[in-house]
Amino acid sequence: MNIFIVYWHPEPASFNAAMLRTAEKVLTAQGHEVRVSDLDAMAFDPVSGRHNFTTRSNPEYYCQRLEEAYAAEHQGFCSLLEDEIRKLEWCDLLIFQFPLWWCSMPAMMKGWLDRVLAYQRTYSEEQNYNLGHFCNKKAMLSLTTGEPAGSYTEDGAHGEINAVLKPLQQGVLAFLGFQVLEPFVAYQPGQLTEQVRINMLEQFSDRLRHLEQEQPILQPAGCDL
Ligand SMILES: Cc1cc2nc3c(=O)[nH]c(=O)nc-3n(C[C@H](O)[C@H](O)[C@H](O)COP(=O)(O)OP(=O)(O)OC[C@H]3O[C@@H](n4cnc5c(N)ncnc54)[C@H](O)[C@@H]3O)c2cc1C
Repeated sequence: MNIFIVYWHPEPASFNAAMLRTAEKVLTAQGHEVRVSDLDAMAFDPVSGRHNFTTRSNPEYYCQRLEEAYAAEHQGFCSLLEDEIRKLEWCDLLIFQFPLWWCSMPAMMKGWLDRVLAYQRTYSEEQNYNLGHFCNKKAMLSLTTGEPAGSYTEDGAHGEINAVLKPLQQGVLAFLGFQVLEPFVAYQPGQLTEQVRINMLEQFSDRLRHLEQEQPILQPAGCDL
């Protein structure tokens, strides 16, 4: 498979960095081709705006969706976004690796979504959910938390983890057509012993080795926008 990992963590010695290195090592050893966008290393600008484009549909009034549609028709995305979109088109499996911040992605990664997932290039009124642009591809969230697993159960403080992740797993990934795999959640690595953290990386490796056999937890269903 072609596997694209979008990664954010500013600390190379972090547990997220260890998870990224584990994924690269295990997936490459399985014969997959892996590409990584390390957003912090790229100093990825998360703020969307006119600089997304080399074309201008309307210089008087900025409407991002209209500029995206125009750029999609006229090869008008800046080279950074064009490269990221091509990696999306290239991959069979998309993985996001990040620490959970405010029950979501950190801002730099959210900004990647805002800028890269362009209207008429990655989705449209006709191309979404089961008719989505990426409907033959799979996607998976891989994340760490600061709070224990018990906080992410139905009776826990934040509710069940897949409910917390629904805006990303359904609103973004399934919307684009991706078949969504069960997320891998490394709960509270900062509070664990070194040995338990090592075991967690082993569990992650095991999971990655068998990804191709996994059934998605979310299949994009039809939707009328
Ligand atoms: C703004 C903000 C918002 C947040 N919001 C939330 C939230 O909504 N919900 C929530 O649950 N949490 C939240 N958190 C906490 C955050 O999710 C955790 O701090 C983060 O997920 C921990 O992951 P890390 O990679 O940063 O861990 P680190 O602190 O980098 O690592 C944990 C430990 O693993 C060790 N380690 C690194 N590599 C290895 C290795 N190869 N083998 C063994 N050990 C290793 C490190 O040395 C460290 O001791 C928030 C934090 C911030 C700053």
